[in-house]
Amino acid sequence: MSVKLIIADGDDIGPQFNILEFGDGTSIGIDFGLGVGRSGPSVPYTPELKRLIQYLVVTHAHLDHIGSLPLLADMVGGRFFEPNFTIYGTKATRDLARLMLIDSSNINRKRGNLGLAYSREAIAEVLEDRYVPMRFRDTVDLSPQVTMSLYRAGHILGAGMPFFATSNGFRILHTGNFSTADQRLIAGAEFDQSGIDVMVLDSTYGGRTHQSRMLSRLRIAELINRATARHGKVVFGVFALGRLQEVIQIILDLKKAELIPNIPVYADGGLAWGVTDIYFSHFSELRWQNITDNPFAPGMMEKGLKEKMFEGVTFIGEEERERLANDSESCVVAATSGMFDFGPSRGHLRNMADSPLNIVCATGYQAEESTGDLLLSTERGSVLSLRTPDGGREQITVNCEVERVNLSAHSDQPELCGFVTRVKPKHVVLTHGSESAKFRLAQALAQLGSWKIHIPVKGEEIEFD
Ligand SMILES: [Zn+2]
Repeated sequence: MSVKLIIADGDDIGPQFNILEFGDGTSIGIDFGLGVGRSGPSVPYTPELKRLIQYLVVTHAHLDHIGSLPLLADMVGGRFFEPNFTIYGTKATRDLARLMLIDSSNINRKRGNLGLAYSREAIAEVLEDRYVPMRFRDTVDLSPQVTMSLYRAGHILGAGMPFFATSNGFRILHTGNFSTADQRLIAGAEFDQSGIDVMVLDSTYGGRTHQSRMLSRLRIAELINRATARHGKVVFGVFALGRLQEVIQIILDLKKAELIPNIPVYADGGLAWGVTDIYFSHFSELRWQNITDNPFAPGMMEKGLKEKMFEGVTFIGEEERERLANDSESCVVAATSGMFDFGPSRGHLRNMADSPLNIVCATGYQAEESTGDLLLSTERGSVLSLRTPDGGREQITVNCEVERVNLSAHSDQPELCGFVTRVKPKHVVLTHGSESAKFRLAQALAQLGSWKIHIPVKGEEIEFD
């Protein structure tokens, strides 16, 4: 059976959307995200299609993968989706996606992007009426000839890798964002097949080698110790979904092991509490490091798992933010957003940048020209221009130390190469990455095997037999 892969909008890091069309007429979309760049939100490019899409599978709940889902409600019965189309994904992805979509809609409403300010009904239609939850390794029949399974992708809670198999033995894996390495709370990707036909591969960090996660943890300890020794504070800019929970858990581990002093730990971010709630409501999918973390240990359920796990963490808002800035006591804050462009992390940066005692630390991907990106290249003592919530600018002097630790939830080049070598696909299709990341990954992969490497551009179709 022939299979056609259409890279609708999944070539680079923007709104994700790819399509698979099988020879028996089955067609399925993969993700339907929202771009969240500095130039404003962007919806996926939708190519002209010869047949309507019957299914959609969502890999995980980051906005660039799910942010345009409610728009599907209006596309149904139109030129794109069949009237009774079904959406697949994990239960955790659905729970997280609901929160992310409500939050994104509120932000877009405030900014006047009314087309992206979804109603509760539109969100419910895609995440409840049409959504069929799957567990990892569950298999569904898309047609008598095509099945789909979801494998654990690592990355964030609920993230899955869709895997398709046809009755004549053709197998295709679409990795989505994935991490082969274990993170503090999320176990690494799990895929045990090899000799498959096609792997559509996330190339986000195809050109990079990450620092080991153990070294990153020690580096976090070192930063906290350095700042507290001089009575300073440390602010970590974190993404609300995934990174905040990881950073907090690492800090608590360090505290428990007495590798850092017993100072107050704060989490600040509108979404942080809700996302953390969902993380802990899916506690059996989280990774526990030792028996005292075991959610089934006596007393854990009575106390409330989240309260027990996050004991010693105070969730704060705007009022406490101002108070903290004037407090002379050392503390650690994990604040959203991850690139310091808006939200609490921007506020903490503004409040704390002036003091050379403090450390401001980025913990993830910093888009070009984002505040975090500019901050990292600002020399100490120089002025940085910050965007204000009302669209204006304000100048701050960066006297604090600016640092970065790697806690990536994506595989790096050695991990990607290891994964491809293990799975041994005939074709590797590089997606979701910058030109240079894909090019460098292609060079590395070409040394390792005889797989055919494809680097498609937006709108390109690849036919496999
Ligand atoms: Zn992601």
